[in-house]
Amino acid sequence: MIVYRTKKDISGHLHTLRNEGKTIALVPTMGALHQGHASLVEKASAENDIVVVSIFVNPTQFNDPSDLNLYPRTLDSDLELLRHLEADLVFVPSANEMYPGGDAQIFDLGNLDKVMEGKHRSGHFNGVAQIVSKLFLLVQPLRAYFGQKDFQQLVIIERLVEILELDINIVPCPIIREKDGLAMSSRNVRLSKEDRKLAPFIYHTLKLARGKTASLSPSQLKEWVALQFRKQAEMELEYFEIVEDKGLIPLEEWDDGVNKVACIAVHLGGVRLIDNLKFD
Ligand code: AMP
Repeated sequence: MIVYRTKKDISGHLHTLRNEGKTIALVPTMGALHQGHASLVEKASAENDIVVVSIFVNPTQFNDPSDLNLYPRTLDSDLELLRHLEADLVFVPSANEMYPGGDAQIFDLGNLDKVMEGKHRSGHFNGVAQIVSKLFLLVQPLRAYFGQKDFQQLVIIERLVEILELDINIVPCPIIREKDGLAMSSRNVRLSKEDRKLAPFIYHTLKLARGKTASLSPSQLKEWVALQFRKQAEMELEYFEIVEDKGLIPLEEWDDGVNKVACIAVHLGGVRLIDNLKFD
């Protein structure tokens, strides 16, 4: 496994590999790696000759400076895990390396960044599009792997590939959960012991909500979920939306003709947690 810190060095190596006819996969991450990330690397490794993992806490996608400061950084153990997973190339750039000329690029993502995360984290997805487009153009992978944990991000990345007219296959990967149902996340380490015990309530509530679609309309279901969280003093519901899975339009009525995903964001002890569940 080779660790690169500059675009020039990694792109030289990638150029050689491409000339040798190797298939190249990209797994973009912000580090503080866990089994969710590992599942992406393993899938990429099974389907390609070369796996490139990037580790970069991208400042332009943080709308909250304290969230950026508190974001866990565990490079040594990340590299150990990636060595164990037999990743081939790891790219760990500095912010200057990725944004030598600032961060001015604006993407028109239509409705996709107006709802849910986009509504509550202004500029977040433009920052994601900035960094992912730079990584795509640098690595030029055949396939790029993204987790369904960040469902809205996945839909936006698929749109980004269309906007940039890139020939990259986006491979969605299932959500990896802890035994008690909590979706794995780098932010989970910031939960106190008590809050960690409460956190599975989020997934538990999503599953209960899915069981109520026969008796409640989407708006009644939203109210029901809001009520469950009002009963949990420690947790604050930021949003719960049921959207169709292409344009992310919130559903007013149940529609058998579209795939539905319920998405949720919750604040717990100063940590913001997101999760989602398919409703089909
Ligand atoms: P992050 O480091 O949080 O930016 O995540 C990097 C990639 O790992 C993204 O594509 C995430 O969707 C994916 N990922 C994070 N957590 C999980 C999880 N629990 N299961 C599956 N994929 C995940």
